[in-house]
Amino acid sequence: MIHTALAWHPQAPLQPLTLPWLHVAGVEVAILRLDLIDPLISGNKWFKLREHLHCAVQQGATGLMSLGGAHSNHLHALAAAGQRFGFATVGLLRGHAQQTPTVQDLQAFGMHVHWLGYAGYRERHQAGFWQPWQAQYPGLYPIAEGGGGLAGTVGCADIVTLARNQLAGLGWRDYHGWWLAAGTGTTLAGLVRAEAGAHPVYGALAVPADHGVAENVAALVEHAGSGYQLIDASRGGFARTDARLLAFIAQSEAHSGVPLEPLYTGKALLALHDAVSEGRFAPGTRLIFIHTGGLQGHRP
Ligand SMILES: *Cc1c(COP(=O)(O)O)cnc(C)c1O
Repeated sequence: MIHTALAWHPQAPLQPLTLPWLHVAGVEVAILRLDLIDPLISGNKWFKLREHLHCAVQQGATGLMSLGGAHSNHLHALAAAGQRFGFATVGLLRGHAQQTPTVQDLQAFGMHVHWLGYAGYRERHQAGFWQPWQAQYPGLYPIAEGGGGLAGTVGCADIVTLARNQLAGLGWRDYHGWWLAAGTGTTLAGLVRAEAGAHPVYGALAVPADHGVAENVAALVEHAGSGYQLIDASRGGFARTDARLLAFIAQSEAHSGVPLEPLYTGKALLALHDAVSEGRFAPGTRLIFIHTGGLQGHRP
């Protein structure tokens, strides 16, 4: 049942992140390990799903359907939640049938998977896209790609609460800002809304600036430009990696013991490294870095 999922309030540890370059700069970082909220439902996607689940319950839906690629963290979280809490899930996938570890999991979790091809997937924004799927799966509530929109921001307020409840354990009375990877910017917008200007939110963009993230965030936060900054961390393209990034990730993992992946969390940490190296944060600055998960999408 979908409503049993809404009663689940996962915990995520807030841990000191110890890396030599932070130490040198006198910048303190705590990492909120959303990758550890659950063995199967990992990262920020659960928080983005919450309000969609709430809407589904209100409409009396018996399950949910959504869209994504063959490595989608969003579909993975949705399918895992469906299995855990006992509701039906349907995934509409981009491209042609292929077996990835993600797709294997989706099917093992009981998600009904349909491959739309590339042309079919491009139609996802058109009016009437969902009609045939709703006819085929009556009672299933549709979520747009990535679980974004205003509904996607609402549950992200829980991320702020999760971290704030653990500050005392770190000996922190306060903090000076958030640093996290942004794809659509929905999670970032949720934090900005929850903070209401109290602390700045720095978004390390995993996609190039021309992907409309700035516009998406501006539309989702109440006051344009309030309390956030976007930093290009994409390294030339989503899913593009390079030797410097991969070496940095390996080194960071070895030093900190925190697993990273190269599309979001690795790029976000490298962008933080560069900002700290440029002296952007004064000694004594305390930042919360959000580990947004994504490890499932990067299995061999
Ligand atoms: C989806 C995702 C993001 C981006 O979240 P948005 O809300 O789209 O900005 C960041 N990190 C990981 C690991 C993700 O899977």
